[in-house]
Amino acid sequence: MFCKTEKKGQKNMIKRKWKHLLVYMLILLFSLTGCNAMDISSTEADAAQQNEEPIQTQEEAQADSAHASLTVHYLDVGQGNAILAESEGHYMLIDGGARESSSFVVRYLKEQKIEKLDYILISHFDEDHLAGAIGALYNFPVDTLITPDYETDSAIYRSYEKAVKEKSYEALHPKVGEQFAFGAAKFRIISPVSYGHEDENQDSVGIILENGKNRFFIGGDIGLESEKEILDAGTEIKADVMLMNHHGSHVSRRFFEQVSPSYCVISCGADNSYGHPRQDTVSLIKEEQVPLFRTDKQGTIILHSDGNSISFEQEPCNDYTPGQRGASGGQEESGENPDILNNSDAQNCDYILNIHTKKIHRPDCTSVKNMNEENRAYYKGDIQMLRESGYTDCGSCKP
Ligand SMILES: [Zn+2]
Ligand SMILES: [Zn+2]
Repeated sequence: MFCKTEKKGQKNMIKRKWKHLLVYMLILLFSLTGCNAMDISSTEADAAQQNEEPIQTQEEAQADSAHASLTVHYLDVGQGNAILAESEGHYMLIDGGARESSSFVVRYLKEQKIEKLDYILISHFDEDHLAGAIGALYNFPVDTLITPDYETDSAIYRSYEKAVKEKSYEALHPKVGEQFAFGAAKFRIISPVSYGHEDENQDSVGIILENGKNRFFIGGDIGLESEKEILDAGTEIKADVMLMNHHGSHVSRRFFEQVSPSYCVISCGADNSYGHPRQDTVSLIKEEQVPLFRTDKQGTIILHSDGNSISFEQEPCNDYTPGQRGASGGQEESGENPDILNNSDAQNCDYILNIHTKKIHRPDCTSVKNMNEENRAYYKGDIQMLRESGYTDCGSCKP
């Protein structure tokens, strides 16, 4: 944890004290030798005062040039997130993508000749963020492992726990506002403001990565609920580059305007079944005329920051076409679940469906609480219709 400005302020204060001491000694000297102490002391004091400005500017300039370079790679991991950041030979992996892309991520990191990761930050424990990070945990020594402060009951989480135990790592669960040094850059925790959301996506650890004047917003899979908490907490979230939350799913206009990005990046899989990115999200980006980069259209996106300006290795695709919801044959985008199966709510439904695994659960089934909100459909009606359309019964609650 560190705060550069604080340290610099302290240093300046110490310098100023010495300078004042020097002036007093001169006054004493001149009054002893019988000179006009008043005149000289004021001249000396003025000189000291004037000198303070250039010293500060010099230090500021030094601080600026210290923010030499930051490279951010938004890896093409299909439907998932994996971001590699590098500053002055220091490396951080933020999420690692899904199982299918785990070996690609490890290979990519090896190609960068990475010997050690300063940080692995796992935004949350969904498979499309966690799987590749487990690969990285096994393949590279890691200084600091950062995760949200919750546990879950999934196969992928159990493999994560096994890796952490085997490598004797202890994950850090930072609080909002905590800062971490990272090469010439630093990053600041902006979420989750609170825990215990029904939808684990809302518990994602989000950060603002800062290199000099350049800022990068990376918020995992947070959605409207967590966005509101961040805004209510008054956290500074303005950034030059915004990785769109949750693969281009929901974003509120208010939140988007607070980040006020100059560039947007969407990390999602080509023809993914979730309908990412959402129609309203890409429309908002288009309306605000923000250049857009997309991993599903362009593959891995790489940018460089020198602390003042940002340059991308490719042109923006500015492709504002939304994803098609595959699981439901590309139905309308307003709901996260296909309307035909999501015809009820948590209180009144007969069954809760996982539209991803195509399982039918009783509403009180224990595995329902670990189900992703985006995979859920609340269904009221005939179970036979579900079975005929390819859904199978959950083995534990036996609907
Ligand atoms: Zn995700
Ligand atoms: Zn998620």
